[in-house]
Amino acid sequence: MDISIVVPLFNEDESLPHLAEWIDRVMNEHGLSYEVIMVDDGSKDRSWQVIEDLHKGNPRYKGVKFRRNYGKSAALNVGFAQAQGDVVITMDADLQDSPDEVPELYKMIKEEGFDLVSGWKKKRYDSKLAKNIPSKFFNWTTRKMSGIKLHDFNCGLKAYRRDVVKSIEVYGEMHRYIPVIAKWAGFSNIGEKVVQHRKREFGVTKFGLNRFVNGYLDLMSIMFMSKFGKQPMHFFGLVGSGCFLLGFVALVVVCILRLCGRIALTNSVWFYLSMLFVVLGAMLFLAGFLGELICRNSSTRNTYLIEKELGTAE
Ligand code: UDP
Ligand code: MG
Repeated sequence: MDISIVVPLFNEDESLPHLAEWIDRVMNEHGLSYEVIMVDDGSKDRSWQVIEDLHKGNPRYKGVKFRRNYGKSAALNVGFAQAQGDVVITMDADLQDSPDEVPELYKMIKEEGFDLVSGWKKKRYDSKLAKNIPSKFFNWTTRKMSGIKLHDFNCGLKAYRRDVVKSIEVYGEMHRYIPVIAKWAGFSNIGEKVVQHRKREFGVTKFGLNRFVNGYLDLMSIMFMSKFGKQPMHFFGLVGSGCFLLGFVALVVVCILRLCGRIALTNSVWFYLSMLFVVLGAMLFLAGFLGELICRNSSTRNTYLIEKELGTAE
């Protein structure tokens, strides 16, 4: 099968029939074999009935329904697990992403050898204040922190080689950082394609401004995990030892000064500061040590992504 289209959706019953019709038209025009995996993220409207009808009419349409709303990342993760096509495309259900882009994205992965191609909504039809301006800032920081030169990390329309989606795990609200996760997993050939964006016709947006707060915390944890996830001591141990040493030296100096009768300990700010640093250093060191113990016991401590093997036993 050429293409799996994964569509996460939450209360999008009005858009789905239009989306399905459009996908069918584009795929048939280009003679591509495909499946569409609709992941219903706990919708409260008629979305699931629509998916059932689509499946009845055409078994290429597959569906998974969550019992409750788990979020877009969870929906994508489940869709990725099901996908069988050589190229996996993710697309929002609200008709803001155009299926017309699919054949070109497919070509970029198949022929130009990209691991991942991200859409770029260069001209965007969303509210300026709530989406466009915060987005620019969000993309700038993510670019700086991850070193990936994409303009639009959060675009719902993306294409992946199948082994990329089979190698990564998306959870929490990490769907905004899939390119970062993919790069960390060793898929660094990441491309970008300007895509058409459209106004939302039906329903309402599911993401408010709080996504930026959560988004930043997620970025921090991804960056931290990729750098120190397998060796927490390299961070905590270093900072902790530094703090401890600084505090300890300062404490010795303060005690000597006290013995010489230069200062009184209880009203010297330096005494409290040096104590603070000693305690803080010891705590950070301990945190690193606990982190190492947890890593040592984690079931994935020796899980590596292997790209190729030669002459090894199965
Ligand atoms: N979505 C989802 N689960 C959620 C929130 C959103 O599956 O908890 C889906 C939603 O139905 C849509 C896509 O994620 O297909 C993008 O959401 P939305 O269009 O609301 O985001 P925006 O385009 O406003 O950033
Ligand atoms: Mg949308």
